[in-house]
Amino acid sequence: MEISENSGCSYGCGVWLVMLVMAGSAAPTLAEHRSNASDPSTVKITHTGGWCLAESRNFRCWTCQNETEARNLILDCEDLRSRLRVLWGSESTERDWTPRCEIVIHRTQSAYCSTLARPGDSSVGSTRIQFDGERIVSRRIDLRCDAPDWTTAALPHELTHAVLAERFRGRPIPPWADEGIAMLSESASKRETRLADLRHALRHRSTYPIRDLIAVRQLPPLHLRDAYYGQSLVLTSWLVERTSPKAFIQFLEACPETTVDGALRKHFDFSGADALDQAWRQRIQNPETMTQVDLLERGSEVEVASATDGN
Ligand SMILES: [Zn+2]
Repeated sequence: MEISENSGCSYGCGVWLVMLVMAGSAAPTLAEHRSNASDPSTVKITHTGGWCLAESRNFRCWTCQNETEARNLILDCEDLRSRLRVLWGSESTERDWTPRCEIVIHRTQSAYCSTLARPGDSSVGSTRIQFDGERIVSRRIDLRCDAPDWTTAALPHELTHAVLAERFRGRPIPPWADEGIAMLSESASKRETRLADLRHALRHRSTYPIRDLIAVRQLPPLHLRDAYYGQSLVLTSWLVERTSPKAFIQFLEACPETTVDGALRKHFDFSGADALDQAWRQRIQNPETMTQVDLLERGSEVEVASATDGN
């Protein structure tokens, strides 16, 4: 069996589950956004090796939380998965994930880094998807619950990577767009922080020309990371806002078959990457026009009117 990997956030791990004895924690939940996407009675809770294991139709969640928190968390995951699949066009919103997605919630950075064999890693979440051809053979998300906003930022971010991997069936997703879409699932406050970091990078003239951003294939060095994430978020947000999530996915799917300039002309009415570069730099300077789309709040009905502000 030939296995290929698609690792969200560009630095997936090669380590499987490591059992650690962990005490309960008081991590927050996502309960305020839950819909009826999942039946609580279908959640099974067991305890093993110091972990609380919550199991549902599409997830197996290993956590340091108590039973109530574990149950709420896995129901939130089910709900989020359903909404993300509708939003980003997975072909069947009914089909269960086989295999289910393993989610491991680590209590500390050191436990997270140790499990992923990534010493000193400061990230809060990581996604690893393995494929056999177009078929997904494993899904795994690792998260740190010592980060204060992990349920509203890292969790939806990483889960979006998992949904996109399913949508693209092992075909490469341009990293800027993969990250950009994942960041659109984060909380508004997290996205505001990213925008502030981007404006700082702009003031210090350490941003990417759009043509270079689109060509990035590996996680950039630390001094360019704020620009990379901020520009990816702004560009994705803006292009989705001009059309729709579905049209943006179609643009990404068209990119391997044509030039970036050709795909921009066809799908967004820009003459090419250089014109897009000029346009976004003008836009980011004006906070009033730099809106952020709350796609998860607006659901699948989002269809934003075409922009009239030129390109
Ligand atoms: Zn990511």
